[in-house]
Amino acid sequence: MATLSIGGRQVSGAGEFEVLNPATGQAAGSAPECSRAQLDEAVDAAARAFVAWKRDEPARRAALEQCSDLIKANAETLARLITLEQGKPLAKATREVMGAAAWFRYTASLTIPTEVARDDAQMRIEVRRRPIGVVGAITPWNYPVILAAWKIAPALRAGNTVVLKPSPFTPLATLKLGEILQSALPAGVLNVVCGGDELGKAITSHPGIRKISFTGSTCAGKHVAQSAAADLRRITLELGGNDAAIVLDDVDPASIAPKIFWAAFDNTGQICAAIKRVYAHERVFPDLVGELARIARSVRVGDGMFPETEMGPLSNAPQLERVVELVEDARRNGGEIVTGGARIESPGYFFAPTIVTGLGSHVRLVAEEQFGPALPCMSYSDVDEAIALANDSPFGLSGSIWSADTQRAVELAPQLECGTVWINQHMTIVPDAPISGLKSSGIGVENGPWGLLAMTEMQTVEIPR
Ligand code: NAD
Repeated sequence: MATLSIGGRQVSGAGEFEVLNPATGQAAGSAPECSRAQLDEAVDAAARAFVAWKRDEPARRAALEQCSDLIKANAETLARLITLEQGKPLAKATREVMGAAAWFRYTASLTIPTEVARDDAQMRIEVRRRPIGVVGAITPWNYPVILAAWKIAPALRAGNTVVLKPSPFTPLATLKLGEILQSALPAGVLNVVCGGDELGKAITSHPGIRKISFTGSTCAGKHVAQSAAADLRRITLELGGNDAAIVLDDVDPASIAPKIFWAAFDNTGQICAAIKRVYAHERVFPDLVGELARIARSVRVGDGMFPETEMGPLSNAPQLERVVELVEDARRNGGEIVTGGARIESPGYFFAPTIVTGLGSHVRLVAEEQFGPALPCMSYSDVDEAIALANDSPFGLSGSIWSADTQRAVELAPQLECGTVWINQHMTIVPDAPISGLKSSGIGVENGPWGLLAMTEMQTVEIPR
């Protein structure tokens, strides 16, 4: 039975709720429902633990290294829970868990410098960094373990303590992660609670929490910002995206198609920074679409527990319904379904990998974040027009430019209105590079030294000579 981690103890919830396996539509397990009183206990425990934790820098580094080892040692258990509740193929779930271990190890290696703003005959001015206090971390259902690691590791490294809430669709792996990490951490340093959006709201408005680190939809992110504003709580928001891939006229379609395909369809398209729109020059467009469709038809879709599976189901019924609705809307608005376009007959939430052409920029499949295995591909004749279309979006998470001439692509990069631009690749996410969304894709930054500093506040110390 899954348990909450509160104050260093494994406890049952005030109630329970069922978690479904998206490959079968059947129960995957049950999760504890955290009451408001239990949330208060978790925040109190985190506040008490903060007093000693913030002072012991060497212990924090060692503890994070131990967390990394514990995650690796329990990789199989965690990966199986991810596949069971989220749906991705087991090999990819294992990669997610190993990624989380790598993030902890990398973050353990970082140090927080004291900078010197001035050091002269009159005065020395030091700019130091302090931990913020109790961090409320809220995660979505697409990458439950690694996205939790992106929050826990820098928060703890900087000297904060954490109350973490996973998505109610995928709580089981995160609850297990919380349980596993307790042996590396003093009681109360990491608390994992569990429940729906209402519990998320209770976290974002909790007076004992000083910072919210949130990953999820733009709609919920705006609510989080409003709630946090009431008490000037600090926020980092990693929100939705509608990444464009801009393909120039000089590429070899056959060689780039597999990279573009998997950057769009990995995790069944449910990645914030997946390719969600392709703009290809008219000279290469027909061949590129042909290659993408060929790959789409060859993908083995199935239960992530089967070793031959390359793509799992959508993670939950509402997300499947959304993808069905967007593809139907595209069809009604003149889209040509090159391949796919329908559910796969099964009790699970499967949808065939889908390539759509012929869509205008205001059709929902192009304009909104589909977060599923349906990729709209558009042809252009002038690269300035393609960049304008890519930028004509409320989102600004990331994007990519593809060309046989790397320099040509690099020169276009500053024109894209997004936080990360990849050249001849997409979604190569590493622990030492920052992720930050422009426009409605977020506020603040995660990863690298920048993400670590985002878990601190500045303090200036001025010392007269
Ligand atoms: P969601 O916003 O519905 O839920 C995310 C989390 O927030 C869940 O734990 C949920 O219970 C909680 N929540 C919902 N409403 C809340 C509120 N008002 N106050 C506090 N907490 C609340 O998102 P989702 O459907 O779980 O995830 C998919 C979304 O996440 C997509 O838009 C995707 O692009 C985004 N995402 C972004 C990144 C990134 O790094 N930018 C990474 C992964 C996913």
